[in-house]
Amino acid sequence: MNTITLNNDVIMPQLGLGVYKVTSGDTFDTVTTALHNGYRSIDTAQYYDNEEEVGKALKSCDIPREELFITTKVWNSHHGYDRTIEAFETSLDKLGLDYIDLYLIHWPVPEQNKFVETYKALEELYRTGKVRAIGVSNFHIYHLERLLKECDITPAVNQVECHPYLSQKELKAFCKKHDIFIESWSPLYRGGEILEETVIQELADKYGKTPAQVVLRWHLQQDSIIIPKSVTPSRIKENIDVFDFQLTDIEMDHIFHLDSGKRIGANPDEMNKID
Ligand code: NDP
Repeated sequence: MNTITLNNDVIMPQLGLGVYKVTSGDTFDTVTTALHNGYRSIDTAQYYDNEEEVGKALKSCDIPREELFITTKVWNSHHGYDRTIEAFETSLDKLGLDYIDLYLIHWPVPEQNKFVETYKALEELYRTGKVRAIGVSNFHIYHLERLLKECDITPAVNQVECHPYLSQKELKAFCKKHDIFIESWSPLYRGGEILEETVIQELADKYGKTPAQVVLRWHLQQDSIIIPKSVTPSRIKENIDVFDFQLTDIEMDHIFHLDSGKRIGANPDEMNKID
């Protein structure tokens, strides 16, 4: 498993399992299967409503805590300093952990305009040692610029929608300049059409890999962190088997040509949902 070193020297696996839309009934088996197949990083969130089951799977595996890397996120309903601390304690409790490896603000929620205050709560949690690294999710450049100006700690990660249809080149350049890692959500565009693109299929044939593996490899070669989700054991195995081939620069560029700015999720400027 490749790892990356965050801007505070914390080491994070470059690939993890995402558990958005994994039902609480499926979560234990899905996380357990992933851990058995070499995953050490799990990406959950207050909003996903499966932290308890993630925690049970972590508890029942034989893997030492320090080898695991657990991310969770504060939901839009809990922006503001006190509400964020409260949400964090609840997540910690549900996960059954003493600390979180990476804690993120899930969305900036422009209508509330409280993300700076929310981030200050994350800074406090970091200072007390309850989280090893803090970051954000779905932040545009101008949201990040506010944090860089008004807060003390540079986010370690910005978790954003990213796949070949939305390659986020400008945001990636900004984050690289400020030592913030990009973590791609929906790295596979949730499967389907992207895996049928001719360029992806041709590369899959060339390397004897699957289209999903080619897409994941494209992310990894940009130094992005990825958290593909699957509840299917064969796909969970397939998605981590991506460290034995290398796309050429020209092949990377061919995939970049698929960029059309198309999103599968909300534009962060328009995401104000709080329930
Ligand atoms: P992904 O791009 O990871 O795609 C998941 C979908 O693709 C599932 O339907 C899965 O099916 C299918 N799939 C997985 N592997 C393969 C494969 N090898 N071949 C074909 N199909 C495959 O989308 P997500 O939206 O789930 O994103 C990943 C993670 O990112 C989430 O789980 C979550 O942790 C995070 N996320 C964060 C957000 C944020 O706002 N911060 C927003 C959205 C996601 P199946 O499960 O049936 O196998």
